[in-house]
Amino acid sequence: MKPNKSHTITRQIFIANQKELCHRLSAPSFMPADGMCYKCGSDVISALIKRGENGSKELVTGCPICHRSYCE
Ligand SMILES: [Zn+2]
Repeated sequence: MKPNKSHTITRQIFIANQKELCHRLSAPSFMPADGMCYKCGSDVISALIKRGENGSKELVTGCPICHRSYCE
């Protein structure tokens, strides 16, 4: 599924995609459960959606804003 401008990715979809990806990779979920960075308080999910991510391609292992790693 390619992201395109007419298809809106919601937080719910993003989180579901991310969960599925973790499952597929047998990886733990690194992203804060509510999508809010616990270092800078930014809304990580909104920031990634704005960049065209839908959560199904890459594991979120750090904050896209402050670059804090979540997997340490
Ligand atoms: Zn952050």
